[in-house]
Amino acid sequence: MPPVVRFAPSPTGYIHIGNIRTALLNWCVGKRVGGQFILRYDDTDTARSRQEYADAIRQDLIWLGMVPDLELRQSDRLSLYDTTTARLRAAGRLYPCYETEEELDRRRALQKARGLPPVYDRAALKLTDMQKAALEAEGRRPHWRFLLNHRRVEWEDGVRGPAHIDTSSLSDPVLVRADGSYLYTLTSVIDDIDLGVTHIIRGEDHVTNTAVQIEIFEALGGRVPVFAHHNLLTTLSGEGLSKRTGALSIRSLREDGFEPMAVSSLALLTGTSEAVRPVASLEELAKLVDLSRISRAPARFDPAEIQVLNARLLHETPYAEVADRLVALGVGGGETFWQVVRSNIVKLAETKNWWDVVTGPVASDVEDTAFLSRAAAVLPPGPWDETTWSIWTDAVKAETGAKGKALFMPLRQALTGLDHGPELKGLLPLIGRERVLERLKREF
Ligand code: GLU
Repeated sequence: MPPVVRFAPSPTGYIHIGNIRTALLNWCVGKRVGGQFILRYDDTDTARSRQEYADAIRQDLIWLGMVPDLELRQSDRLSLYDTTTARLRAAGRLYPCYETEEELDRRRALQKARGLPPVYDRAALKLTDMQKAALEAEGRRPHWRFLLNHRRVEWEDGVRGPAHIDTSSLSDPVLVRADGSYLYTLTSVIDDIDLGVTHIIRGEDHVTNTAVQIEIFEALGGRVPVFAHHNLLTTLSGEGLSKRTGALSIRSLREDGFEPMAVSSLALLTGTSEAVRPVASLEELAKLVDLSRISRAPARFDPAEIQVLNARLLHETPYAEVADRLVALGVGGGETFWQVVRSNIVKLAETKNWWDVVTGPVASDVEDTAFLSRAAAVLPPGPWDETTWSIWTDAVKAETGAKGKALFMPLRQALTGLDHGPELKGLLPLIGRERVLERLKREF
């Protein structure tokens, strides 16, 4: 059976490179064998969820090449949650509780003082119908907790191997708030069952949810999917990434002109057994994913590496893949120009700077105008090709006696206005004889 995977962000901010690591792992595991990739917005927290963030997430995924096969939002599925919750209530697995936050805090403080773990004591289970009615008459509305089985829950984690959590060490989780709204812990399982999700690949910050959710899967008679918890991306200093700060958001990386595959390669390969390198397509990247070889240590990454990966990726990109974008940037020169400049750029937009150098005008600061005039005098006739530069510089050397840096630097400066750049043997024919003469004979 082909896998069904899902990426389930809450639309409460712009997603960052760490969130995309989760999306990519799911996409790779699902799509490389013809499975289904679902985008689910976990937007039950209506106060913090925003449509603009949901739209941005879709845009980010599409930019990276992860087009969802199905898109849904939890806020559209409330009636399914209502009917399913009714089943859990009827089965006695959801029970009403009336404690206020302050009461719970007080109880936890007491437990702590006695050296006990701050686990909910299930006091509400002992309430009689009369007591409940009295509390409701006071105006209290219940929130609903899931009655855990207090057992050792075991699963074979796709990343971490055999895993287990004893649910007697956990509080019965609240699944329905007093205002009737649902918590992600429940709605996620209802959806995963409904959509036939086969693999839940997510960050290791969700490990404790897994034991609870396996119990919910079982209580609802659903098939428990494969769980895999991957390490989280952190900065070099070990700090986690946050949606709230907007740092390293996919949107900002796109706006900064990075290539989608540089972003994806970095997000996916960091903290795995594979060398971090630019990979040309998601399909190729998918072949490299081996969940069982993802490190359990945090995946530290250096944001500066994105520059290096981007440059390396462009260096290897064939012309056909960038042709349209070069035209859109107003860059001419076709494939020849691309071959000449691609190893000298970090971002694609920089091609425009080099194209401006080709077409001119350029400002240079060569003082030895006599040298330039003598160089102009031996400029080979057209047509020019890749051999022209060495023919010309040999002639300039014979004419002036200059060699090495003293020969090449003034010529590079005069022709490009810069001290560094793409190989002149490639640039020279693009600049062309007429413009070269103009640049050599400029009046100072
Ligand atoms: N909405 C959850 C999150 O953003 C999804 C976790 C999961 O994949 O189950 O962390």
